[in-house]
Amino acid sequence: MDNNNNFEEVCSVCRRTESVAGEMIKMGKDICICKDCLQKSFDMVSEMSDNGQLGDLTKLMQGMPYSGMMQPTDQGDEAKTEISNEKDHPDEGKDGKEDKSEKKGQSTPLFLNLGSIFGGQNPNLERTRIRKKERKEGDPPLIDINKVPAPHKIKALLDEYIIGQERAKKIISVAVYNHYKRVATQTMDEIEIEKSNILMLGPTGCGKTYMVKTLAKLLDVPLAIADATSLTEAGYIGDDIESVLSKLLMAADNDVEKAEMGIVFVDEIDKLAKKQNTNSRDVSGESVQQGMLKLLEGADIEVPVGATSKNAMVPLTTINTRNILFICGGAFPELDEIIKSRLSKQASIGFNGELKDKYDKEKNILNKVTVEDIKQFGMIPEFVGRLPVICPLEELTEDMLVAILKEPKNAILKQYQKLLELDEVELIFDDSALHAIAKKAMERDTGARALRAVIEEFMLDIMYEIPKDENIGRVTLNGDFIEGKGGPIVEIRTGEKTKKITETKAAPAVTE
Ligand code: ADP
Repeated sequence: MDNNNNFEEVCSVCRRTESVAGEMIKMGKDICICKDCLQKSFDMVSEMSDNGQLGDLTKLMQGMPYSGMMQPTDQGDEAKTEISNEKDHPDEGKDGKEDKSEKKGQSTPLFLNLGSIFGGQNPNLERTRIRKKERKEGDPPLIDINKVPAPHKIKALLDEYIIGQERAKKIISVAVYNHYKRVATQTMDEIEIEKSNILMLGPTGCGKTYMVKTLAKLLDVPLAIADATSLTEAGYIGDDIESVLSKLLMAADNDVEKAEMGIVFVDEIDKLAKKQNTNSRDVSGESVQQGMLKLLEGADIEVPVGATSKNAMVPLTTINTRNILFICGGAFPELDEIIKSRLSKQASIGFNGELKDKYDKEKNILNKVTVEDIKQFGMIPEFVGRLPVICPLEELTEDMLVAILKEPKNAILKQYQKLLELDEVELIFDDSALHAIAKKAMERDTGARALRAVIEEFMLDIMYEIPKDENIGRVTLNGDFIEGKGGPIVEIRTGEKTKKITETKAAPAVTE
């Protein structure tokens, strides 16, 4: 057991962790072997000695490349299939003699290529070590209830990065606060607080992923982002549903306990909906929804460490998803139609049937979404039931896009201005430029994501040309320039400023 840090050792041969395989024997840097595997090696050597094959041993070692940890010896190809099989490690097999007599005559003798292991480093070893689960007494709790910021504080932090989406930020702040309160206290007076997984609805590029990323960063919890379209049921091509937990474990630096308090964001969840208006049932999406149920609810899931798929050479660990916050996001196209038709149906049943198309003009119709609408969209009831917090986001308007350009802490414009500032050039976007950029971005229909693409189109030339001329002191971009009708306004440095620049530029030369 490695007492210097909080990692569990993994047997270099069978890849089981010490919590599964028992105490490890350390053999040089980063090489550990479990008692079962060591016993097996001894058994095999003594068997070879009995059969008079020991003389071939050195020859055998020289001939073996370091392609895995174990190599079958004289048993031909059949033995390969039994490498690191769990069956090879019966618990009662700790007594070597008993084990040997039981196994005699079977085709399992395997040889550990110690020579090559000592010679070379396995780059995967460090990566696949798992942190020990137990924390020592007196260790500070991973989540301190007093340190989880109150909802208004979470929202204030989000405000620094995310423009608009006021309602969504409020919903998320409260949900996250409640979630971590629940995690920190586990239960409250025997009233178990239910998990508050979140379903985010909103058009593409409106900030769903960004909000979750920002949240995870602010709360300093690990985050895994997965795409629902790449998830498949176990056994199919694609990522197993459990692979999202492997990603989370990686994000938590292989610390199981930390991962168990992390956030998983599954994007494009609407793609798992049952297809509507078709006769063929789209079972694949539906079964991935089914497969996610136990994850959402809270279950012990076996997860491969350091890889996204289970196979014999990858150690497994168990993650309990009870305290993992799942956030599912999707654009849910045409959900607005479902909401509108429900609302107008309700209206026509009442006395104001003339309001039928009233909702056509309503902008943020998603705010009126109900669980029934989402079910009608094609999500299975059990799935929706496990995402009790519904968080609709607004479509971004031109003004919001303008604000996104200049206001957030790390706004795109600030980034460009900073870059040019290093060349001591002031970069100014006037209002008409900002609106022209926002308009262009809106045409692309990918929300704020289009902003960077639009800006990069013209900033390339600016960034290329400006450093050519040291006299340029200020560049102003206006709407005409963005629309391709004119050029940027370039101003030459004033005498005073030029002087200042020459002074600062001269300074390093003096010290040299
Ligand atoms: P989606 O809703 O499709 O997940 P993203 O969250 O990935 O969209 O948004 C794409 C990018 O647009 C983000 O990286 C972020 O820079 C920017 N963005 C989107 N919405 C906002 C917003 N409301 N405030 C600030 N930036 C935003």
